[in-house]
Amino acid sequence: VFRNKLTFFAAANVSSSFPPADLPEIAFAGRSNVGKSSLLNALTRQWGVARTSDKPGLTQTINFFNLGSKICLVDLPGYGFAYAKDEVKDAWEELVKEYVSTRVGLKRVCLLIDTKWGMKPRDHELVHLMERSQTKYQILMTKTDMVFPIDVARRAMEIEENLKANKSVVNPLMMISSKSGAGIRSLRSVLAKISRF
Ligand code: GDP
Repeated sequence: VFRNKLTFFAAANVSSSFPPADLPEIAFAGRSNVGKSSLLNALTRQWGVARTSDKPGLTQTINFFNLGSKICLVDLPGYGFAYAKDEVKDAWEELVKEYVSTRVGLKRVCLLIDTKWGMKPRDHELVHLMERSQTKYQILMTKTDMVFPIDVARRAMEIEENLKANKSVVNPLMMISSKSGAGIRSLRSVLAKISRF
């Protein structure tokens, strides 16, 4: 499915402008700088086509991409800018809460966690939201090339421990590096299966 053409088709900053949910959706979430655009680029090899910026200060939107009319990839706005204003945080939370809790056709949220830094409070907030709305999510540990293998393993155990009582998390967590390409093919095949449900 990742060989299909990727087309940007909608951006929404309020739930009323979400496009119709005609296809199974896979969304990508994480702190700003976690490596989300690099991952989307590695997965699709055609990212950046019509991508809008989610840098602080600019409007935060949820961006919808159609992959060969088989699946929809959704880029959720990055969070956790140290210097983001409270209004920005509230707007993010409102938008993402609405999206994860009401979106028909949302099959999976990929929550990206930087292997070096682990889960932060705002990651936990998002996990909490998804648990409450019973949204299936899986953890992707990013930038594994930056960390010694022993520390990658330690971090994975810590995250699993954190989430072990949770019901909507899909295991196992996956470890990826967009730089070395590690884990990208396995992630593609996991996600391709979702599009066939
Ligand atoms: P985003 O803000 O989540 O979209 O993050 P980006 O994809 O823009 O990446 C943020 C920074 O991390 C950039 O400088 C990337 O080059 C770097 N980066 C992203 N993925 C990797 C990776 O797998 N390995 C390494 N070493 N750096 C990465």
